[in-house]
Amino acid sequence: MLIDSFDRKIDYIRVSVTSRCNFRCLYCMPNTPFEWEPKENILSYEEMFEFLRLAIDEGIKKIRITGGEPLLRKDLDKFIKMLHDYAPHLDLALTTNGYYLPEYASKLKKAGLKRVNISLDSLKPEIANKIAQKNILDRVLNGINIAINEGFVVKLNTVVMKGINDNEILDLLEFAKNKGVIIRFIEFMENERAYPGIKRVGSEEILNQISKKYSFKELPKDNSASKYFEMEDGYKFGIIEPHNEDFCKSCNRIRLTAEGFLIPCLFFTESYNIKEAIRQGDIKTAAEILRDVVKNKPEKNDWQEDEVSTRAFWETGG
Ligand code: SAM
Ligand code: SF4
Repeated sequence: MLIDSFDRKIDYIRVSVTSRCNFRCLYCMPNTPFEWEPKENILSYEEMFEFLRLAIDEGIKKIRITGGEPLLRKDLDKFIKMLHDYAPHLDLALTTNGYYLPEYASKLKKAGLKRVNISLDSLKPEIANKIAQKNILDRVLNGINIAINEGFVVKLNTVVMKGINDNEILDLLEFAKNKGVIIRFIEFMENERAYPGIKRVGSEEILNQISKKYSFKELPKDNSASKYFEMEDGYKFGIIEPHNEDFCKSCNRIRLTAEGFLIPCLFFTESYNIKEAIRQGDIKTAAEILRDVVKNKPEKNDWQEDEVSTRAFWETGG
């Protein structure tokens, strides 16, 4: 079992399978990065699997595949199947922008994927297209429907930005409610790659807008990154507020990037690379790195109010 120095059980890993993306979201990757990592520096699926098998043996129970846009990486369903075959009870999840779900949802379901989180920042074509800098909305909405029809547990993620989509909070909430899926509103996390001038909308403001139309109560916090709220009719929605004091108390996760960096915390500058150990077949060293990362997981994130992160979300997987 993996327990960190603050007695938190670490049983969840987010795995970024690629840094590349077909969107250029204003809050994440508005400009194409100057250089992509050469292919030889990216872990193959077999290498990722070698490490994840070890992590599963050490107590990891949930794996979320993310990116960049994970559906850009070829044969993702085969990778999911490798993990599912090794550990059928693993909670296997995916975070995607939804664009390629129409093509891949069915294959992913058959491979053993259970949950899909889909980014949806606007229901207005011109705003959605402005945020992603691409004509996306029809395909994403189609992707959401297909994922629901395939029987995935679907959640929607919305990054709320002042003056861009903050007038759509109720519309997005009602869209999700009508589909019977949870929506989580995410506070924009300032980072130096984001489009300059993007402004965060705080959780108070988001809840305030919702409270003008609906009554709801906060549910007891579990170890998810989100706080959940329940409306009178039982519908649940969430808020992710990384700037909040108690965000880290129940954190149960670490991250693996496509280049093999193991990251104990999204807002922590240290990371450790497992690539060489895995490529040399040195599982003992890889296991030591995993335990060290868990041991060195900080109590709280390094995030200061008004600080701008240097981390690229498309590398760490959000
Ligand atoms: N491409 C996929 C997607 O967009 O869902 C997966 C990768 S994306 C980096 C993972 C999550 O990070 C998405 O829900 C996205 O909205 C969120 N994200 C990216 N940049 C962010 C930022 N600056 N602040 C808050 N959330 C961010
Ligand atoms: Fe791509 Fe996801 Fe980042 Fe948008 S949030 S640019 S879809 S990685």
